[in-house]
Amino acid sequence: MAHFVDSLTNEEARLNALRDLRLLDTPPSETFDRLTRLASQLLSAPVSTVSLTDRDRQWFKSKVGVDLTEIPREQAPCNYAIQGSNVFVVPDLQADPRFVGSPLAQAGIRFYAGAPLITRSGHGLGTICVVDDKCRTLADGERRILQDLAGLVMSQIELQNTIGRVDATSGYANQHQFFEDLEDQTRCCAGLPSAAVIVEFSSSAEVTHALRVLGSAHADLLTKRAMQVMQHQIGNSARLYHVGQMRCVVLCEAGSPTTAPALSARIMAALAQPIFCDGVPVTLSPAIGCYDFVASEVMPQDVLRHLLSAGDDARNAVDGCASYDPTHDQQKTRSFALLNDFRAALAADDQLHVVFQPRVELATGQMPGVEALLRWQHPSLGNVPPGEFIPLIEQTALIRPLTDWVLVKSIAQARAWNLEGLDIRVSVNASALNLDEKDFAERLLQKVREAGLSPQHLELEFTESAVARNPTRVVEQLRALKEAGIAIAIDDFGTGYSNLAYIRQLPISILKIDRSFVMDLPTSQTNKTLVRTIITMAHDLGYRVVAEGIEDRQTYDLLTAWGCDEGQGYHMAKPMPARRLSSWMLTATHRAAA
Ligand code: C2E
Ligand code: CA
Ligand code: CA
Repeated sequence: MAHFVDSLTNEEARLNALRDLRLLDTPPSETFDRLTRLASQLLSAPVSTVSLTDRDRQWFKSKVGVDLTEIPREQAPCNYAIQGSNVFVVPDLQADPRFVGSPLAQAGIRFYAGAPLITRSGHGLGTICVVDDKCRTLADGERRILQDLAGLVMSQIELQNTIGRVDATSGYANQHQFFEDLEDQTRCCAGLPSAAVIVEFSSSAEVTHALRVLGSAHADLLTKRAMQVMQHQIGNSARLYHVGQMRCVVLCEAGSPTTAPALSARIMAALAQPIFCDGVPVTLSPAIGCYDFVASEVMPQDVLRHLLSAGDDARNAVDGCASYDPTHDQQKTRSFALLNDFRAALAADDQLHVVFQPRVELATGQMPGVEALLRWQHPSLGNVPPGEFIPLIEQTALIRPLTDWVLVKSIAQARAWNLEGLDIRVSVNASALNLDEKDFAERLLQKVREAGLSPQHLELEFTESAVARNPTRVVEQLRALKEAGIAIAIDDFGTGYSNLAYIRQLPISILKIDRSFVMDLPTSQTNKTLVRTIITMAHDLGYRVVAEGIEDRQTYDLLTAWGCDEGQGYHMAKPMPARRLSSWMLTATHRAAA
């Protein structure tokens, strides 16, 4: 019984190997035909085939001297040939009890000689064989020829399957193969459920670290070992693909009862053990994204995209697993579209504009300056809030033209107010990446000079994290700006490291207290204490203090009483277009005077 079960699983594995080669039912090909012609000639046999042993048929990939495309597997001599490793010869089918009633014998065939086609893992796929309607024998030299031809057929099969379909470092199927297999599922298993998981062996930060410290060969080996562990766990029920550095995908056969979460639980358990890599045990921190789908209903590229999206969510999940969530995917699609469209927005003249929010001197109600805030009217998505698109742009080199764009508009506006006789300082937000530009200060000062603006009418806001990134270069740039007369403010103070000791070394003159501390000031005792302390400390260090997000009179009064210098918020004014600002100033001055 055990033997029977063994041979059954062997046969399944053999059929899997055959199916993986994707040769069955493919059109004739000259490379194989050349080899059958050669076999026929060299062995002087009228008929020769390359025949593959499917579950219940012998299918001919190539043939000479015969019209059939397949014959039943039962009683076919090829079926015997694939059991061994040597050339299988039947001198006379009609005299052999195993074949006497076979379709071949009945068709008048007497002689058969076939060399098995054996894969590296030892599976017999089929044969290259010759047959004759006369009985005869095979000389030793002829035997060797047939064996050599079988070797050539196998090399051809391997070559066809390897090129472009296998990852060179791990030897596992690659993304291209994954897409092809999904297309196959679409064709042959329409409507059946499929399951796939994506496994990322380490976080991208860990991968970068590993690459830097241990080199890419180590990362490649670790990936290969981890994939071997997974292969052992999932057996033949699913196929493994290497789809990125330290990342792979597992695809179940369509119609398999396994769901993606069930598969992921098995893989997670297998990967919880340390992986031995060059003899060193390595503990991975895998994240697994799950996706159950119907192959005929999703494009292969979208299957991978959905898996990647689930994989990202998995990285942030406590247990390292997550299932595909279409709403998250929509957000990512939107983010991607925004990033894509921003370049066009910069080039168009009707999508971006700058609004200005007054900054008020609390004690007098006067307006010494405004903050420039960017707005984007997207042609199809409408108004996109800066809190949504700026963090995306800030991760790309596009932040440079963005800041330049806002600076040019703000400088021009400041100059225009100047010419109208209004003494307004415009404060512009800059990002961390801007300070990485070696020539940031230089270019900015040039713009100011070209516009004929006095530098005192411009101010720059940076967050604490922006200035903490690259201390030496940052200090150099900020110093150059300050020396030219441009004031520097720390924005969102209190939300970052709030390292006053570090900030003290920077040439800044203004602290803007983040609105999260200001918004519930009247009701939060903690925030009251915090804000008062910040104001006192900042004054001790010689900074001006600006409170953001003042939404009511009570907050305004508290801050004024504590000596906060300036304030900004909806209580005084929302951000507005430049043309509305002068009329607002008139009414505001009335209010302050009243
Ligand atoms: P931020 O620099 O902290 O700008 C202040 C934000 O608070 C603005 O939001 C402003 O409209 C809002 N605000 C002002 N007063 C109040 C108030 O009383 N209550 C409430 N709830 N909010 C108030 P906005 O314009 O949506 O900008 C959001 C963020 O986007 C800005 O935060 C800034 O980080 C970024 N941003 C906007 N424009 C630019 C830009 O030109 N360049 C860069 N790098 N970032 C920008
Ligand atoms: Ca700001
Ligand atoms: Ca702020």
